[in-house]
Amino acid sequence: MDFELTEEQKMLQQVAYEFAVNEFTPIAKEYDREERFPREVWKKACENGLIGAYIPEEYGGMGAGFLENALITEQFSRVDMGIGLIGAATFGSENILFFGTEEQKQKYLPLIASGEAISAGAYTEPNAGTDVAGIKTRARKDGGDYVINGSKMFITNGTICDFMVVLAVTNPEAEKRHQRQSLILVEADRDGITRTKIHGKMGIRASDTAEIAFDDVRVPQSNLIGQEGRGFYEVMQFFDVTRIMVAAQGVGVAQGAFDLALKYVQERKAFGRPIIANQAVQFKLAEMATKIELARTLMYRAAWTIDNGATDPKLNAMAKYYAGHTATWVTNEALQLHGGYGYIDEYDIQRFYRDARILEIYEGVREAELMTIARRLV
Ligand SMILES: Cc1cc2nc3c(=O)[nH]c(=O)nc-3n(C[C@H](O)[C@H](O)[C@H](O)COP(=O)(O)OP(=O)(O)OC[C@H]3O[C@@H](n4cnc5c(N)ncnc54)[C@H](O)[C@@H]3O)c2cc1C
Repeated sequence: MDFELTEEQKMLQQVAYEFAVNEFTPIAKEYDREERFPREVWKKACENGLIGAYIPEEYGGMGAGFLENALITEQFSRVDMGIGLIGAATFGSENILFFGTEEQKQKYLPLIASGEAISAGAYTEPNAGTDVAGIKTRARKDGGDYVINGSKMFITNGTICDFMVVLAVTNPEAEKRHQRQSLILVEADRDGITRTKIHGKMGIRASDTAEIAFDDVRVPQSNLIGQEGRGFYEVMQFFDVTRIMVAAQGVGVAQGAFDLALKYVQERKAFGRPIIANQAVQFKLAEMATKIELARTLMYRAAWTIDNGATDPKLNAMAKYYAGHTATWVTNEALQLHGGYGYIDEYDIQRFYRDARILEIYEGVREAELMTIARRLV
């Protein structure tokens, strides 16, 4: 058993951290306020091999593992989670890597790795989130095409993506509702697509989120990804990997909030001495540091397990659940240590606090993670 990262992994961590400090810090406040996606920074990150690090070399990627991708994600979120979500410019395209044909991989993955395209994964609908099998978007066969009708909700990269992987009902006659869906690649410029940006998010405001309507959208049946009728199961397998990135965001944002709080309590004085001189404050910091370390260890182990071909859905759900919980708890306590200043947007900690909250909601609400864990206990 070896808990040490390799020298290459440590170097990658350092490169990702320095990139984020140089590129994110100057724009984080402004892009949060203006709800703007940092396109130039995303491009630059692609040029530096920091997006989609797990994409194999034959498809234009770095050929690293999901652990390496998680290390980058963690450092990005440590500096700013909202801007750091440029790392999610690959979201959805993992389905192509896992289930796509050789032709689909050759066509789309190099575009993602090089920064020529952004993808999205469109599963959630206005009336079906946690209950993925309850989606209604329909893809009907007509000639050699699928004709898609329906709508998707809260889609990350929705208005900025070049293509999306859409979960739709293709086999409504199947006996079990979990066997009715398929994954279909839809290019964003197809006729009949309306994309509407969602404004007013609590956090991760630099990340684009949209509602997408499909009105008789035609795509060739060759755009099917994976197997017809297996879409639900494929999406679950996809989440088993991508939720590690959410755990990595959680560890990163918690560490970033901790760093801010530690600095603040050393500088701020009350009752004639620095706040950190109070043992209650020291204990709070010790508790924060312990939870972060726990979340990190769980997340690294889960990512390592994926890279070693033994993906463990229970471990992954535990990592995301615990990192999400840790991030909301730590950012809240870190804000508390800032007193009134923590409540003002001049101080970064309030943004960390707002950003962290989504970690217990997207890619599976915390209750969904608990369901995954509970199902595997007996
Ligand atoms: C900023 C943002 C980005 C997102 N990005 C994407 C994306 O890129 N692609 C995509 O497809 N989706 C995306 N989502 C959607 C997200 O994954 C869903 O919001 C989430 O899965 C929850 O679905 P819901 O909102 O419909 O909540 P619901 O499923 O309606 O659940 C509401 C609440 O009910 C409770 N609950 C529900 N079911 C159970 C149960 N069985 N047991 C116990 N409690 C339960 C939980 O407390 C839950 O929080 C995003 C959402 C946001 C806000």
